[in-house]
Amino acid sequence: MTVGVVVIVLFLAFAVVAFVHDYRAGIPQAKAAAKSAQTARIECPHCGVAGRVATKPVKVKRGISGGKATGALLTGGVSMLATGLSRKEGATAMACGNCGMHWTV
Ligand SMILES: [Zn+2]
Repeated sequence: MTVGVVVIVLFLAFAVVAFVHDYRAGIPQAKAAAKSAQTARIECPHCGVAGRVATKPVKVKRGISGGKATGALLTGGVSMLATGLSRKEGATAMACGNCGMHWTV
């Protein structure tokens, strides 16, 4: 086996781990409860009515370039690589019950 093959195998292994991690993290739990507590204070930027805005935490997945993953491998940053591959941006989907406007923050 060449070094290149080893790198590819490792990359695939981490990709699988990241996929499983993403799948689990996609289920909102404690964070969702914390978000819902803020709902009453949210004011709709469109109609200005507060307390009618429903929120839902969402995850926006961001891809990672192969070059970045390879760089992490070369530097031995295993945990960094796992984190990088599973990196998601937390966002909140908002929906106003008064005017029906939808937006994401
Ligand atoms: Zn509104």
